[in-house]
Amino acid sequence: MITSQMADAVRAAGGEIRLGAEVASVRLDDRRRASGVVLASGEEIEATIVCSNADPKRTARLAPEEAWSPEFLQDIELLPSNGPVVKVNCALSGLPRFRGLGNGSEAGPEHRGMIVVAPSIDYLEDACRAAAEGRPADPMFCEAWIQTTTEPELAPEGKHTLSVFAQYAPYDLAEGTWDERRDEIGDIVLGTLERYAPGLTDLVEDRLVLGPPDLEARFGLTGGNIFHGEILPDWLFDKRPSAGWHRHRTPLPGLYMCGSGTHPGGGVCGAPGRNASRAVIEDLVAAGDPFPGQA
Ligand SMILES: Cc1cc2nc3c(=O)[nH]c(=O)nc-3n(C[C@H](O)[C@H](O)[C@H](O)COP(=O)(O)OP(=O)(O)OC[C@H]3O[C@@H](n4cnc5c(N)ncnc54)[C@H](O)[C@@H]3O)c2cc1C
Repeated sequence: MITSQMADAVRAAGGEIRLGAEVASVRLDDRRRASGVVLASGEEIEATIVCSNADPKRTARLAPEEAWSPEFLQDIELLPSNGPVVKVNCALSGLPRFRGLGNGSEAGPEHRGMIVVAPSIDYLEDACRAAAEGRPADPMFCEAWIQTTTEPELAPEGKHTLSVFAQYAPYDLAEGTWDERRDEIGDIVLGTLERYAPGLTDLVEDRLVLGPPDLEARFGLTGGNIFHGEILPDWLFDKRPSAGWHRHRTPLPGLYMCGSGTHPGGGVCGAPGRNASRAVIEDLVAAGDPFPGQA
């Protein structure tokens, strides 16, 4: 909803949005200034300003290594990027019933809000430690939503959607691969919820389990990290994504970063994009050309 309204605003202002247009590289002129992009299809698009909301590691790979400053590249490489999230999206044949709550046939408050399984700090620490040791947590820390209780049009009458955001599972499993263990890990996630909603797993008609390597492959997130890099003290404020490069400019003039890997970080907040647009406007005004191409 919000993104489609933002897209409408871009189009209304004369902008064009192209989907499925993978950028293979950022074009640089002979002064190392970004002058456009080259798509994977081979098409070249000229531009005065290039803004990338791909994660910092992906953005860094869009220009030749020798074009960057070594310190910048080193910081980007060190940004911890392996994510610990498993996403499980389910189609349910009916509404789950939670122990001691409601009658299971009508949606109650327990279905409409965010369902969180995080009973204690020790529980969370155990879950986190498991992933640090290369194992999927069992049980998991789960956050879940049944969207159809507030948006029934998302599923046929009487059916429901359930999406679970679970932590922690490592990108690199100590034993086996995600291809070998994806279903088992999906079972752990749903098994965790089953403890609170007995019979839930019998309601699952279909499901999609996405571990960190799947999030990486599907959404172009390095390491499957949902925030383009960990939100840790060493990588915040003036150090995100690289020391001294928190104002969305990069060592390559004309190339800006506007995604979650930049200050102030991830989440659906829009702040990196807003900050980056201000940096772009500031630079264009300073160059005396606030509206390039519209003279
Ligand atoms: C499963 C999941 C659950 C989440 N849950 C929440 C939540 O509950 N609350 C919250 O606040 N945040 C949540 N987030 C995080 C939130 O979605 C991100 O912080 C936010 O989307 C970041 O926006 P962004 O524009 O920086 O990057 P993204 O939305 O990641 O967009 C970057 C885009 O760049 C594209 N890209 C990469 N390389 C190229 C290339 N070479 N050419 C062209 N395009 C490229 C990617 O495909 C992607 O579409 C979640 C993320 C995930 C994955």
